[in-house]
Amino acid sequence: MPALTSSLPVSSTTASAPPAAPAAPRPATPAVLASQDRTAELEQAIARDPGSFRVLTGDRPTGAIHLGHYFGSQCNRVRLQNAGVELLVLIADYQAITDRTAAADLPDIVIGLVADYLALGIDPDRATIFAHSQVEPLNQLLLPFLSLVSVAEISRNPTVKDEIAAAGSPTVSGLMFSYPVHQAADILSCRANLVPVGQDQLPHIELTRTIARRFNERYCPDAPYFPEPDGLLSSAPLLLGTDGTKMGKSRHNSIPLRATADETARLVSRAKTDSQRHISYEPHRRPEVANLVLLTALCRNTTPEAVAAQIGDGGAAALKAAAIEAINERFAGLRARRAALAADPGYLRTVLAEGNQRACEIAAGTLAAVREAMHQRY
Ligand code: ATP
Ligand code: MG
Repeated sequence: MPALTSSLPVSSTTASAPPAAPAAPRPATPAVLASQDRTAELEQAIARDPGSFRVLTGDRPTGAIHLGHYFGSQCNRVRLQNAGVELLVLIADYQAITDRTAAADLPDIVIGLVADYLALGIDPDRATIFAHSQVEPLNQLLLPFLSLVSVAEISRNPTVKDEIAAAGSPTVSGLMFSYPVHQAADILSCRANLVPVGQDQLPHIELTRTIARRFNERYCPDAPYFPEPDGLLSSAPLLLGTDGTKMGKSRHNSIPLRATADETARLVSRAKTDSQRHISYEPHRRPEVANLVLLTALCRNTTPEAVAAQIGDGGAAALKAAAIEAINERFAGLRARRAALAADPGYLRTVLAEGNQRACEIAAGTLAAVREAMHQRY
């Protein structure tokens, strides 16, 4: 059984500069601050040796992808792929049925996500795009992994609590509750060691690390099999939606990437702001205003401070006008590419089928090694 080191070749002595410090629009928790520090170290290691990393990341097919996805995770995926890191992108279709029942919508949403990925710049010749339900060996990992965590540990997970609250349902399915364990199976099925995510996913990655560590300790202490993957944050680890809470597909507060220019204008116009006329960038004191300032800056590739200074006393109306213009300019090309790709669903299905096959091959190798380590070869 091949061993994969869990400690990545990270050193603080290299010359290459880490990316700009991420700016969170809410007071950052100690876990987020620690992950930001770790991200800076990882960026140096990636610059030195991109081939030592394998990325697994993904999305729930619960609706159209939005600006939070783009600046929180998608940008990093494409950048890492182009830097020579191996990239696997998962469409978590089992996780779409945890808190909603419209399974009949799944085929269109899933194929639409493939169109999004390709329009964003994910290259199917280099990257693997696959759907959860199509990779049987991946799903078999869920059972041994469930044995490695307690119900109390999952109950304490703040993201599980948030997602249960956001779903607004009086009952919680076993699948929804075990979401972070399923996510550990996704990541560890291909022994990924890097996961570009928004900050909401950090508690899940922590649990994946725990599961990897416990598996190694229990079943293969002399030759640890699973890496303990790291989350990689972007410069926008938590973008807010139009209502001032986390932008989310399921929260009716998002600005979809593929919205038309007019739809974008309508959505941004109703975004929550405050009554102060002078526009400043103060994420902790004025989170909603700061979020629009940050969004405009990200779209223009400039700093939030420069955007705030330019708008000055223009008030919320000028800020929203600037945000609308910046978003529409930034995404016009992507929207056109996506529309062209969506016109050829046959091609998109082929991309997904090839990705499913490759993910099956990788996960089958992992499952065989797991069975051997667990003495389940009869
Ligand atoms: P849902 O509401 O159905 O959970 P979502 O919008 O939260 O959807 P996910 O598919 O759960 O999207 O998340 C996909 C990826 O995008 C994850 O890495 C997540 O951390 C990141 N992400 C989602 N929303 C944001 C956001 N508002 N800011 C930054 N990153 C985000
Ligand atoms: Mg989510």
